Amino acid sequence: MTQMTMLYATLAGQVATARGIEPVDFDGNPYDLADCIPLPSGATIAMMPGRLARGRDRHGQPYILPPTRGWAISAFLPIGYTRTRLPGYQLAEPENMPANAATLPFFGYTALLEYAGELYVAATRTDDPARWHPDAFDRRKLERLVRSRLRAEPENRVLAQHAHCALDYGCPTASNLFFARWEGAVAVAGGCNARCIGCISKQEEDGLVSPQDRLNFVPTVAEIVAVGVRHLNLGPEAILSFGQGCEGEPLLQARVIEQAIRLMRAQTDSGTIHLNSNASQPRAIARLCAAGLDSLRASTISARPATYAAYYRPIGYALEQVKQSLITAREAGAYTSINLLLFPGLTDAEDEAAAWIDFLRETGTQLVQLRNLTIDPELLLPKLPSRGPAMGIRAFIDLLHREVPGLRVGNFSVAVRRLPDSGGPPGHRRVPLDHSVE
Ligand code: SF4
Repeated sequence: MTQMTMLYATLAGQVATARGIEPVDFDGNPYDLADCIPLPSGATIAMMPGRLARGRDRHGQPYILPPTRGWAISAFLPIGYTRTRLPGYQLAEPENMPANAATLPFFGYTALLEYAGELYVAATRTDDPARWHPDAFDRRKLERLVRSRLRAEPENRVLAQHAHCALDYGCPTASNLFFARWEGAVAVAGGCNARCIGCISKQEEDGLVSPQDRLNFVPTVAEIVAVGVRHLNLGPEAILSFGQGCEGEPLLQARVIEQAIRLMRAQTDSGTIHLNSNASQPRAIARLCAAGLDSLRASTISARPATYAAYYRPIGYALEQVKQSLITAREAGAYTSINLLLFPGLTDAEDEAAAWIDFLRETGTQLVQLRNLTIDPELLLPKLPSRGPAMGIRAFIDLLHREVPGLRVGNFSVAVRRLPDSGGPPGHRRVPLDHSVE
């Protein structure tokens, strides 16, 4: 029978094979081939310094790669793929821990192994990656488009901000503003009423560096409307998204967004106006829906209050407000989704999974977007409450489909359209563009 083989990174940064060693995952379990796929195009391979590769020898005995040979290895998946297992490793002794490796940078470490001579990852495809694949973002064309757009609108700070995000971070939604297509970004908020352990735009703790700088201004309504109307008028597939990785919480600028939505909807009926948010303020959500917001995505790591509080460290709100925001938006006719910060061993823990089913049923959420949480397990897990045994990520996804009929599970926000007033809740119900109405 074809065996899986452990891989590791040599000290020179090469991918190497540990012949005769079977890889194990973060919890020391062997991999199930059903949990693995060939390494997808667009993935990145990275070493995990200070982490010793871990496996089992031919006799099934535990095996740890000596630090003199190299470190554990992982992959970062392209969007559209969801990891099913974390890489297996053992922390190096302090005397062998390289400088600055105590905590690894904010990436989505995914298990990488060899099977039948090929590179495999512990992952499953959960959406169509085509529109998010690096190949869809031609760099030279982007630079040209950014230059000409900034020349035409030199005063618009929203464009200047997202030119920076597109060129310096490779942000797909920022880049789409300049490619004039699909989901385009509008960041508005520098502050936040949460202090997430894994925040990618602001880190408080010494030694932790957030991958992106947080926005340091609040755009004017006019700046937003100028960018927004142009993008929305691109057509029914255009999505204008408030709430980006480079900002804090957009609801802290709800008044600005509300005015902008009203003015944009006064000028165009086209496209989808969408909000990515920590959904901490149900009343602000009600006002934005009344102004014309089409869809809301609430970000959360858990449906259990204790886990939520431990990760988000919220200021002046709790998971209950997130739940109320989703219900409020749903009742107002907006399309609702969850940005589920997925972490194998946490998300698929039986008690966490059971709470998710209740939460999704109670809120009537229509779409779950699975997001590989980009954080070092050593930073995250010690800070979270204990949880039950894990069922496996694929089993968790199956459970969602089984227990919440009609729920959509994927990785991306969807463009929506308004249905004629159905005589139900106020406002026009939104459904995905590709949704056929009975
Ligand atoms: S809600 Fe968003 S911006 Fe605020 S701390 Fe969390 S990740 Fe950062």
